Amino acid sequence: MSHNQHWMERDLAVLWHPCTQMKDHEQLPLIPIRSASGVWLEDFDGKRYLDAVSSWWVNVFGHANPRINARIREQLDSLEHVMLAGFSHQPVIELSERLVALTPPGLERVFYADNGSSGIEVALKMSFHYWRNAGQTRKQRFVTLTNSYHGETMAAMSVGDVALFTDTYKPLLLDTFKVPSPDCYLRPEGVSWEAHSRTMFAHMEQTLAEHHQEIAAVIVEPLIQGAGGMRMYHPIYLTLLREACDRYGVHLIADEIAVGFGRTGTLFACEQAGITPDFLILSKALTGGYLPMAAVLTTDTVYQAFYADYATLKAFLHSHTYTGNPLACAAALATLDIFAEDDVIVRNQALAAHMGHATEHLKEHPHVAEVRQTGMALAIEMVADKASKTPYPWQERRGLVVYQHALRRGALLRPLGSVVYFLPPYVISLEQIDFLAEVASEGIDLATSARVTVRPSASARATFHDPG
Ligand SMILES: *Cc1c(COP(=O)(O)O)cnc(C)c1O
Repeated sequence: MSHNQHWMERDLAVLWHPCTQMKDHEQLPLIPIRSASGVWLEDFDGKRYLDAVSSWWVNVFGHANPRINARIREQLDSLEHVMLAGFSHQPVIELSERLVALTPPGLERVFYADNGSSGIEVALKMSFHYWRNAGQTRKQRFVTLTNSYHGETMAAMSVGDVALFTDTYKPLLLDTFKVPSPDCYLRPEGVSWEAHSRTMFAHMEQTLAEHHQEIAAVIVEPLIQGAGGMRMYHPIYLTLLREACDRYGVHLIADEIAVGFGRTGTLFACEQAGITPDFLILSKALTGGYLPMAAVLTTDTVYQAFYADYATLKAFLHSHTYTGNPLACAAALATLDIFAEDDVIVRNQALAAHMGHATEHLKEHPHVAEVRQTGMALAIEMVADKASKTPYPWQERRGLVVYQHALRRGALLRPLGSVVYFLPPYVISLEQIDFLAEVASEGIDLATSARVTVRPSASARATFHDPG
């Protein structure tokens, strides 16, 4: 028995994996990873995989980065953890100072949570509670874009709109206003991203005009709707949204959990629109992909609405046990040091341009409707019919063919449905980008020529023929 096989069997006897139909593992091998370094993951049989999706979008400076490792080790020897209520510590103070300095002007306070979804809950609760403290008790609802994703906890799901993740739980969710997304994949032919994003803003304007008295906040993923298939839009939408939120007295919550820290070509996506949101949520790359942590930044105006004598009961009595964990803060500080010392944003421009060139030819592929890119995120949309952009039936799981092909070739590409995407660590080389483009092209050829039989049963179970 191979070492992989051994660990897979022990795993499948006791674990329940995230975002997984566990029955898939009757056919699909689980890959136990023994070690990782730079862009490479290595399994127990010694096979290596290029981590093209940054291990779910968290890793920016490579696995086992020596500078981040050293900083965490150093922290480990002085303080591993202390509660953050009534107590504090050096890494959390330094990190907060630096986040306030780096993020758009006007964000002055940092509240911590221990994962992205919890960070979303914090922002939603704070916004609602702000209006209550300000005597505006009617403002209880949230506006969200179609196809958005903000995490897996109940309120985070409520402001999300990816049916696969939320439909089952609908009876449990908050009632939100859903506004059509400015997603530029859906723009009419010949229309620019900017013009389309502007046109789509009319829907938002209308919802705010009609309902602003009961709306606490609008929440968006700036520039890229990640889990919704790496759908992208123009920064003008955010500029218009900021202006409208001010006009109608509504908070703007920017979920930069996926797009923050250089992914879109600027340190934060909001910079491209020249705006400051009322709440900015950061996680994922915040710790360089090492440890779970989220930061919610907000304005002094919001902070002051909670600042009062205890008996007024205006305080934000929200806590997560591991809030501000010193090891996570140390990883984040080391990550910010690398951004500061290595001119990362500028270096990424060359990498991003190369990702574009290396995948240019796929635009002509008969089953690729679009190759789109924003900074260090590039997505290739496979379709059944190119002219009409008719998607493949989801039951056919075409993306899985690409996933399996890439694994054989030594790359971790995990498509979202029929969307193949690259979201690599910033330490990737030009040659490694070429390799990914080659693997993706082969995978897309296989996936789009695959004979796929969908059993038309109500339970939508698919029979899947791996062509490889
Ligand atoms: C990943 C993600 C979240 C949720 O973060 P978790 O740490 O997985 O809870 C929220 N919003 C966006 C945009 C994300 O990509």
